[in-house]
Amino acid sequence: MHPLQCVLQAQRCLRWGPLTSVSWLLLRTCRAHSGVRSSAGPSPERRQEDGVWKDFSSRLATGPTFQHFIRSASVPQEKPSTPDVEDPPPYLTVDDLLGRQRKGCMAERLKEEILNREKTVDILAGPDAYRDLPRLLAVAESGQKAANVLLSMDETYADVLPVQMSPSATSAFVSIMRGCDNMCSYCIVPFTRGRERSRPVASILEEVRKLSEQGLKEVTLLGQNVNSFRDNSEVQFNNAVSTNLSRGFSTNYKAKQGGLRFAYLLDQVSRIDPEMRIRFTSPHPKDFPDEVLQLIHERDNICKQIHLPAQSGSSRVLEAMRRGYSREAYVELIHHIRESIPGVSLSSDFIAGFCGETEEDHLQTVSLLQEVQYNMGFLFAYSMRQKTRAYHRLKDDIPEEVKLRRLEELITVFREEATKANKTFVGCTQLVLVEGLSKRSATDLYGRNDGNLKVIFPDVAMEDVTNPGLRVQAQPGDYVLVKITSASSQTLKGHVLCRTTLKDSVAYC
Ligand code: SF4
Repeated sequence: MHPLQCVLQAQRCLRWGPLTSVSWLLLRTCRAHSGVRSSAGPSPERRQEDGVWKDFSSRLATGPTFQHFIRSASVPQEKPSTPDVEDPPPYLTVDDLLGRQRKGCMAERLKEEILNREKTVDILAGPDAYRDLPRLLAVAESGQKAANVLLSMDETYADVLPVQMSPSATSAFVSIMRGCDNMCSYCIVPFTRGRERSRPVASILEEVRKLSEQGLKEVTLLGQNVNSFRDNSEVQFNNAVSTNLSRGFSTNYKAKQGGLRFAYLLDQVSRIDPEMRIRFTSPHPKDFPDEVLQLIHERDNICKQIHLPAQSGSSRVLEAMRRGYSREAYVELIHHIRESIPGVSLSSDFIAGFCGETEEDHLQTVSLLQEVQYNMGFLFAYSMRQKTRAYHRLKDDIPEEVKLRRLEELITVFREEATKANKTFVGCTQLVLVEGLSKRSATDLYGRNDGNLKVIFPDVAMEDVTNPGLRVQAQPGDYVLVKITSASSQTLKGHVLCRTTLKDSVAYC
């Protein structure tokens, strides 16, 4: 079923006919974290191209048919001269909701440009407009252009169940919350995705149950700030229990209380199907209280893999970024996580060349990479975004060539350290969820271990531990045990031992 059909069905208003006769565009501002971010640094040409894309993305749009629009929409605007400009709120104001435009409103400006310049576009729907699609289609049917690009204060897509496009798919993403209240100074998310709001737990559990019934073996819980999850939909849970943060971490917002928290959700989700792996992304380091770490340690089907975005190794830069922690607090959390979850895989995000970053700050980031030895990393050169606090209050003063040089240095160190970290797997047996044929060799299969590292192994017949004596070839969705024989910064290689189950594998891994 087409994704748009699914949306309309959820709205109990499935009239597919009009879609064949109108051109339509959904602005995909809620692109799922597809796990395709690369740890490799982009070429200068690619980076420039990416800059255009990122800029466009930050303006609430994407779409390959709009290249000329992208270029014209990406012309840099003059920066306000006064340093005291107020930050715009990261959510809709009453004026926005009543349709009164704020001056320079991003979505409204895009609407005019797309509808007026793109004569082929009949419907323009923002990410939170899916419930309005029937009306938009009706307007388009009558020959008029229709648009709704307003961001909602409380939309969580709770009733839109996933569309399984490929019968051989082994995993799915489940959106559990949207938006972010953290207001890191470099980040556009609070302005494009709005303030934090979480889906009701019951709706998430129903979705995961359906995925389990469809035979999926892995679910990734998704959210801009996923471990900050807080379901306040049930009145009885709106109590005054205060929120536990990671030690040494603080928030940029007033402390929140009550609601069903991430540890509860993770516990409930992991109980649905013991053979289904559970992952989550992208978390904030501040929201890893002991109850979450303990649960990850105890529950076999919650992957021992934690993404812990550091962004910088310098406390001075972290403060300018408004991350709510120092380097020391972050490193202490790393030690605490490693003590609580032995064998945990760690990944992180880093930004090179943030406003005011000195060589000394940069070297501190290098040393953090060396100290932690992440298994995976996502590294970027800083690119200033309009609307952000940094745009209004800081100076993007690191020359492009310096940013790129620092990025290259970070990538080099990251790769060296990740290779060392991943080599510790050599000689170990890993449980691998098979995803399919290796792209580089028709005789190899690939899958992922618990730490989300890609594992490549020959496609040969093996024993099935649940059916002794039976020889089988691994299929997508099977769990297999692989003995690791070599490792690089990005992949593990090995030979397959047998097909197994997640439960039975615990004795071996
Ligand atoms: S970087 Fe992450 S935590 Fe910070 S504002 Fe953006 S989405 Fe929120």
